[in-house]
Amino acid sequence: MDTINSIDYPVYFTDTLTELVNLIEKGNYSRCFVLTDEYTSVHCLPLLQMYLSAADNYDLIEVSAGEESKTIEFCEGIWNTLIDFGADRHALMINLGGGVIGDMGGFAASVYKRGIDFVQVPTTLLSQVDASVGGKTGIDFNNLKNILGTFTSPKAVFIEPAFLETLPPRQILSGYAEMLKHGLIQDAAYWNLLKVQNIGVAPPAELVYQSVVIKNKVVVADPFEKGFRKCLNFGHTVGHAVETYSLQNDKVHLTHGEAIAIGMICEAWLSHKKAGLSAEELDEISTVLTGLYPKYEIDDSCYSLLHNLMKTDKKNQNGLINCTLLNKIGQCSIDHICTEEELCQSLSYYKG
Ligand code: NAD
Ligand code: ZN
Repeated sequence: MDTINSIDYPVYFTDTLTELVNLIEKGNYSRCFVLTDEYTSVHCLPLLQMYLSAADNYDLIEVSAGEESKTIEFCEGIWNTLIDFGADRHALMINLGGGVIGDMGGFAASVYKRGIDFVQVPTTLLSQVDASVGGKTGIDFNNLKNILGTFTSPKAVFIEPAFLETLPPRQILSGYAEMLKHGLIQDAAYWNLLKVQNIGVAPPAELVYQSVVIKNKVVVADPFEKGFRKCLNFGHTVGHAVETYSLQNDKVHLTHGEAIAIGMICEAWLSHKKAGLSAEELDEISTVLTGLYPKYEIDDSCYSLLHNLMKTDKKNQNGLINCTLLNKIGQCSIDHICTEEELCQSLSYYKG
């Protein structure tokens, strides 16, 4: 697995933590800060510390785990710590955690003293295959997800398979949904490999690598999301609405991947209706996804609520709901306008 060159930084897959130590040594940083959450400080920090012991000039910042922490208040805590420790412009932030830590740590670093260097050490499957490339940082604000943020590249990303060993199966499956999406939108052969894997434990490193290769190809072609990059949105128009609905209404929330899996089934149905996906392919996609992810009960009375949530999707233009759809497995096209009726029918298809 070769190092991938993303927009303007490398993504390492082998000897990752040695590469990180090399970067720290070469960078001549005044101080390093390791940002963790309450779980990555237990499960992931010990391994990182074995490598960092050479560089004794580092401090730890820990935040509580979960999306609830991806806020301006937690950023204030990070900035206060940086100030208390006298962090100057030559400090380095090491973000050790899932997408929450990567997004928030990247954001905090990107504005502190107009930007200090940071690196990403993603420890969830989702953050390894998705958040690792693309250069997006951000936090939630006023209950709006990722509403504040920057496009800022890390100095490098280090994808270490060992971190996935402690990840709960539900989190593995959450990231796996993005891998399946990468196959569906860009690479039929990759989809064929993924659909027969026995998932619950971490997938083979080679499959993680292939997913990053696909996402990287897309973001490098369209770094600021002008057009082509929207193909990554497959499953996310319906998926985001279902995810938000679940966050607002359920005691146990859907994971991002569980919501996206529902979104992909609905949008595969729309793809069959509007974009050329064959009936056999639709059937195959539904069968694979319903086999992997638990069924989610969607009451008919929720349809208009879900439709309203889709209308607020920040990827829409002129108030019309825009979907990325599949022309066939491994190929997609962007900007399909879908009506309320079509979206409701797709939800009915999911309900079966
Ligand atoms: P997360 O960061 O909340 O991690 C999920 C849970 O797993 C947390 O409880 C965490 O503490 C725990 N965890 C992390 N690593 C672990 C390990 N190795 N062992 C055991 N437990 C571990 O969630 P996520 O799914 O990684 O990321 C979701 C976030 O990522 C969202 O906020 C989303 O907006 C963001 N995201 C960003 C991008 C981007 O391009 N920047 C892309 C996709 C998602
Ligand atoms: Zn996603």
